[in-house]
Amino acid sequence: MITHGHSDHARAGHGAVLATQETLDLMRLRHGEGFAASTQAIRYGETVSLGGAKVTFYPAGHVLGSAQVAVEADGLRLVASGDYKDVADPTCVPFECIACDVFITEATFGLPVFRHGDPGREIEKLLHSIELFPERAHLVGAYSLGKAQRLMALLRGAGYDKPIYLHGAMEKVTRYYQGRGLDLGRTELARGAQKTELAGAIALCPPSTLKELWSRRFPDPVTCFASGWMRARARARQHLVELPLVISDHADWDGLTRTILATGASEIWVTHGQEDALVHWSVTRGLRARPLDIAGYGEEDEADAASAEGGALQ
Ligand SMILES: [Zn+2]
Ligand SMILES: [Zn+2]
Repeated sequence: MITHGHSDHARAGHGAVLATQETLDLMRLRHGEGFAASTQAIRYGETVSLGGAKVTFYPAGHVLGSAQVAVEADGLRLVASGDYKDVADPTCVPFECIACDVFITEATFGLPVFRHGDPGREIEKLLHSIELFPERAHLVGAYSLGKAQRLMALLRGAGYDKPIYLHGAMEKVTRYYQGRGLDLGRTELARGAQKTELAGAIALCPPSTLKELWSRRFPDPVTCFASGWMRARARARQHLVELPLVISDHADWDGLTRTILATGASEIWVTHGQEDALVHWSVTRGLRARPLDIAGYGEEDEADAASAEGGALQ
């Protein structure tokens, strides 16, 4: 059972994969035709029987096709969130909170300092910067699956109607989103563009390529990075980011704690990030809580680095 297509959650080589159609398609795009021996698609709200348990997938609001997985057996219901966010995103079905006994939550931004705020304000910041520097390109680092497409949708929603330029590593996934009916306006590959037409333009690229050879084709680029990590100024400085944009596809501290309470679960398993603070918070609320060990955490960043033309930015 695969919650979504990010490489820290979805790997090739399984015997059988149960996932939403979008997740199966995205896994196929990223890992090739033979990514699993057999696959089965499941819709949101659909239930299948598996080894005596009832399994239902629900929307996670994280990226296209992302799901939480509910498993019910012997009167006990456990929900594994995968990655999730409980805020609006024009590129995917909204998160649904599912009542359960045991809730397995992610904790990417599981510290009280992480409060993402309104993504619309961050888009305004970007558009304002373009007004201020019409001769410079704005090069926005964004993860290739989900964040890049959400940025484009947010820009279109804010009335930005010029072509948006893409790094080649984002092309397949972006075409897939568009093929699923998402209107992202005109998108162009940056490698086919003249330097002069990139003045005043927005280009999206994997974060690891921001300071690479690839970025030299842009006139005096303003380096931007769209990530929940941009709340931490030291991170932005470390990545040499001029314009940090706090836009995240993960729940922030308020979203995580709000969701934990709303599930009504008496037991919380915390994984995928900053477990300790969230475990502690849960215990102070009278819940049983513990951290889980996981494999592969942080690999999505590395996957973006691997797709870069050249070395990684650390
Ligand atoms: Zn993810
Ligand atoms: Zn993840």
